[in-house]
Amino acid sequence: MLSVFCSPARYVQGRNATDWLGEEMSRLGWAGNVLIIAGGSALKLLKETWQTKLPAAGFSVVIEKFSGECSKVEIDRIARLAEMQKASVIIGAGGGKVLDTSRAVAAKLNLPVVNCPTVASSDASCSALSVVYTPDGEFAEYIFYKKNPDLVLVDTVVIAHAPPRLLVAGMGDALATWFEADTVITARKRNQVGGGTTISARALARLCYETLLNDGEMALKSVRKNVVTPALERLIEANTLLSGLGFESGGLAVAHSIHNGLTTLPETHHYLHGEKVAFGLLVQLVCEGKPSSVIDEVLRFATSVGLPVSLEQVGVTDSARARLQVVAERSCAPGETAHNEPFDVDADLLLDAIIAADAIGSEYLRRSAVVHL
Ligand SMILES: [Zn+2]
Repeated sequence: MLSVFCSPARYVQGRNATDWLGEEMSRLGWAGNVLIIAGGSALKLLKETWQTKLPAAGFSVVIEKFSGECSKVEIDRIARLAEMQKASVIIGAGGGKVLDTSRAVAAKLNLPVVNCPTVASSDASCSALSVVYTPDGEFAEYIFYKKNPDLVLVDTVVIAHAPPRLLVAGMGDALATWFEADTVITARKRNQVGGGTTISARALARLCYETLLNDGEMALKSVRKNVVTPALERLIEANTLLSGLGFESGGLAVAHSIHNGLTTLPETHHYLHGEKVAFGLLVQLVCEGKPSSVIDEVLRFATSVGLPVSLEQVGVTDSARARLQVVAERSCAPGETAHNEPFDVDADLLLDAIIAADAIGSEYLRRSAVVHL
């Protein structure tokens, strides 16, 4: 098995980074027409900057509002627009679904792609895959690409103005990164791009975890006040870049499988990816038999920023055994990353771990003050 490490070709982050988008694209040797696919808040915040700064850097710009769903219909619609415009670069600006759509359009037309996340709610912006849904919002398929985005540009002023809950959800996704990568490395399993892991991916995943512990609370305070601080800058890098590299080149395990299992319960649909992953991580730590010092450190951090640590906190108020059985079975379906654990994983093991994790998390909440967002 060969070790594989992959990443976006260029990552740029900082205060008002959007001002430098044109220069960054010129630096990569691109010119001509750009098509920007933008979500609603990206449009509101950035449209004027794009319309003044990109032509000044020699690009002509067409901005298209995103329909709201990363579906095949939407991908085809935007691809047709890009062809009509003779676009040479595709830019996605917004949340995860906008970025997923931009990568799909660029891959379809074999064009370079820029991702400008306007929230730090997950680590998807650096990755080489898209999650595609039906126009009604049901999961349809994953599309895997030959390469990661050519440029990821993160404007930290924009992130500082996004709702705090989204940043916290990103911390939930990032919180699992180290533990899942560590599991995959220990088990000598494959990472998310089908290769063996590298010491680089391991180090970045560990740094991701340490950055959360050191900067998470301060970063959350910054976003609540809509200000950019060094702690927020570091935390955004952890949520976006370190977590992205860590999960893709490090690998995933039980935490993300429990997330997938939880989606079988409709009441969890209002909760964000990273929120469900945070509870999934607790399940992973329990079924791996981690010492209470490790579990306590995760619980302390999660509750300090308001991440869910119990079933009730991800919407599951009816935790009858039969319902959790369905979650456990879905979480260990063939192909699930739960099978990256160094031991056999089945529904019985996961069901017991879910119940135990919920008990530990609920008990911790009773004992400590909880941050409400
Ligand atoms: Zn994730």
